[in-house]
Amino acid sequence: MKIAIIGSGIAGLAVAIRMRLRGYEVNLYEKNPYAGGKLSAFEVQSFTNPEKIYRFDAGPSLFTMPQYVEELFKLANEPCENYFTYTKVEDVCHYFWNDGTNAIARADENKLAQEFSEKLGVSRTDVRHIFSSAKKKYDLSGRIFLENSLHKAKTWLKLEVLWALLQTYKLNIFSSMHFTNENLAKGNSKLIQFLDRFATYNGSNPYKASGILSMIPHFEHGFGTYYPEGGMHKITQAVYKLGEKLGVKYHFNAEVEEIIIIDGKVSGIKLKNEKSIILYDAVVSNMDVYYTYSKLLKDAQSAEKINKQERSSSALIFYWGIDCTFSQLGLHNIFFSENYKSEFDALSEGKIISDPTVYINITSKLTPTDAPNECENWFVMINAPFDNGQDWEAMKIKLRSDVIKKLSKALDCNLENHIEAEQTMMPTEIESKTASFKGALYGTSSNSMTAAFMRHPNFSRKIKSLYFCGGSVHPGGGIPLCLLSAKIVDDIFVEP
Ligand code: FAD
Repeated sequence: MKIAIIGSGIAGLAVAIRMRLRGYEVNLYEKNPYAGGKLSAFEVQSFTNPEKIYRFDAGPSLFTMPQYVEELFKLANEPCENYFTYTKVEDVCHYFWNDGTNAIARADENKLAQEFSEKLGVSRTDVRHIFSSAKKKYDLSGRIFLENSLHKAKTWLKLEVLWALLQTYKLNIFSSMHFTNENLAKGNSKLIQFLDRFATYNGSNPYKASGILSMIPHFEHGFGTYYPEGGMHKITQAVYKLGEKLGVKYHFNAEVEEIIIIDGKVSGIKLKNEKSIILYDAVVSNMDVYYTYSKLLKDAQSAEKINKQERSSSALIFYWGIDCTFSQLGLHNIFFSENYKSEFDALSEGKIISDPTVYINITSKLTPTDAPNECENWFVMINAPFDNGQDWEAMKIKLRSDVIKKLSKALDCNLENHIEAEQTMMPTEIESKTASFKGALYGTSSNSMTAAFMRHPNFSRKIKSLYFCGGSVHPGGGIPLCLLSAKIVDDIFVEP
């Protein structure tokens, strides 16, 4: 059996391992010269002193559910710690509000309840109730719907699934996430904003997304958040090396141009600038499903069907080398906007407000070598709409000035004077670097009750031996879900 994987995103790397462990010959094709897709890294020099180097993770900064990475090593019977190590983050995220309030979301539930009761004026019992309610929702439905194909009859015949379906009334499916959070937080506006923020985990809008997403805080505070020693790109490197050890054959600078179909079945692929066809028994596409249809299968009709589903949000990122340190900041930091509703309304209209929520990730807090001595590497991310032809260059210039103004006020400094290295990434660049349709970070959004069921299955209904994994298909975007998409492909794979 010969299998081709298209794309070396985290899901592509994972599915390559799983297919290799079945004993198949696995070839992975990646258009870029490096592995990892969105989960990659780069370095930037200081403007003034080229010897001062800052390292950045390009995309993901938050590592949750490490067990799904570990699972690959367990399956391969290889010690995970020989490839990468990670530690639990105790101070999960530092939150800042415009009125000067700040609070640290601690991993330990008792410490978190204490902090939020002191800083946000909520009762500890209410905080505990919120997290136990998120856990209950996850226990009831999370694993079932995230770890199984929703498009195979066998899933719906499982007893645990039928049981979960009977209890859907407990999941707040039919109310919005914001409405659910308003009730949970008993009207405390800061706590509501904290809870609503979890919609951005998959690029959604809390005012539109279903209340079932109120289980997401359980990922952060129930399962915990982790930091891979040396940065997020170590996850890619570890999984890549595992595949290499198992015998996956990687091909870089190798863009797949077409998936060849004969008599309704996959028969091979064709690479860009190559005339010959390479024969395969099956193909798994880790490329965005929209482009798999429109470019590789030339199936405009199926692509258009996908286009009708709303994309998740994108991001505008400033990678800044900062020539000093800020003791009030941690690994993850969020500076909230004054008006969350208007921020999401603007995103729906393709815009960014002038006082947006700003997320800063600083890996040099835990890996000092990521920045020169007494300096910090700031990954500054602002939620942006998916690309719809906006003038991104103009939006970037305005946003840069708005963000510097906001952070300078919050941190009591003139931030502009401390930026000594810079690179940016706009939605159009996310699209061009990783072929993500419209630069969406997480494929389709979850801005409706049915979104989870509308996401593309992990297999093709029309073409035999064609499978899909990655953030644009079920169960969705984010590292853990991408890894689960690879697992589902493994579960449903049928030898031709
Ligand atoms: P991708 O990373 O999308 O990679 C697809 C690969 O396919 C690319 O390498 C591309 O070059 C290749 N490819 C495409 N077309 C072809 C072709 N024709 N031939 C060959 N190769 C091709 N997730 C988290 O869990 N935590 C976070 O904190 C987080 N933050 C994020 C921040 C940003 C800025 C971004 C961009 C994403 C973030 N995510 C986060 C989401 C997460 O990064 C993605 O969901 C995940 O990495 C996507 O992996 P994937 O397997 O879908 O493949």
